[in-house]
Amino acid sequence: MSDPDDPVAAAAQFLVRFGGPQSLRRLLAAHVPDASGHCATCRTHTGAAPVWPCRLREIAEQMLDTPPQAGR
Ligand SMILES: [Zn+2]
Repeated sequence: MSDPDDPVAAAAQFLVRFGGPQSLRRLLAAHVPDASGHCATCRTHTGAAPVWPCRLREIAEQMLDTPPQAGR
């Protein structure tokens, strides 16, 4: 489910407008699970990482399935 008020979804939509579909594919390639099942890219230097798939990964997958509508 993509919430239009979700800041992560908004950032992903900006990414698509700016970088095109290939930037989403790059995002999907980067946000992969590490050995402990957490996102390797969302990890911070403190070691905190969301369980994979992270929000960004889920949103990118949704956007590849349903391209953004022009003018919204
Ligand atoms: Zn991630």
